[in-house]
Amino acid sequence: MPRVKTHLVTWDEVVDWSRNLARLVRESGFRPDLVVAVSRGGFVPARLVCDFLGVENLASIQSQHWTEAAKAGERAILKYPYRLDASGLNVLVVDDIVDTGETLRLARDYVRDNWGPREVKTAALQWISPVAKYRPDYYYLEVKEWVWFQYPWTRLEDTYQFIKRMMSEAYRETGRREWGFSEVVEGFREWYGIDVGEAYYREALRVLVEKGVVDYDAARDRYVLRV
Ligand code: AMP
Repeated sequence: MPRVKTHLVTWDEVVDWSRNLARLVRESGFRPDLVVAVSRGGFVPARLVCDFLGVENLASIQSQHWTEAAKAGERAILKYPYRLDASGLNVLVVDDIVDTGETLRLARDYVRDNWGPREVKTAALQWISPVAKYRPDYYYLEVKEWVWFQYPWTRLEDTYQFIKRMMSEAYRETGRREWGFSEVVEGFREWYGIDVGEAYYREALRVLVEKGVVDYDAARDRYVLRV
């Protein structure tokens, strides 16, 4: 059993889900003049929704809640607030997933209260219904059991944070500090139940060395957790 329930999302799934999300918007009769991507997770879905709806106007705002993979921050904050004149426009605010709902709700409120649009609606590829305090106007998939979705746009970030967590836990539980490359890969698969592929494990370990989280012992080809 993996320690963190994780689902690997493929690029093909992202395109398929975005196409279906756009279809739901179209079928509802809502015609957005402007799409707003909630940065950073909403960028790719928002761009695809623009493509599928034929919308040329795409802006973005950064609303952030989750500071680290599978760990929520205290509350969502709007990182770079700015004014945009959206008077008379129908606006669709798009994110990848609604978990607690803080991120998308904050973005929606900000656009509604500061940009002067005619109407604002929200859309997400996924909505985690049992935990979300906010339900987007449109969602393609209802998630009934909490899972961390490993999207292609956070693959490296998630991988190095997950490896760091795995190594730190192992050290706490057994005092183990040293890992060979294949042990990292096996451990990762066991812990998270997914496989992100060799290139991502290598990149993630490079990042962890760069960040001073692990040292690479080239002579012994081992990664050593700094404690
Ligand atoms: P929230 O404010 O809790 O609704 O969190 C929404 C943002 O955090 C999304 O834009 C995602 O980028 C990220 N996020 C939250 N929960 C998950 C999850 N279960 N899987 C993947 N990303 C998530």
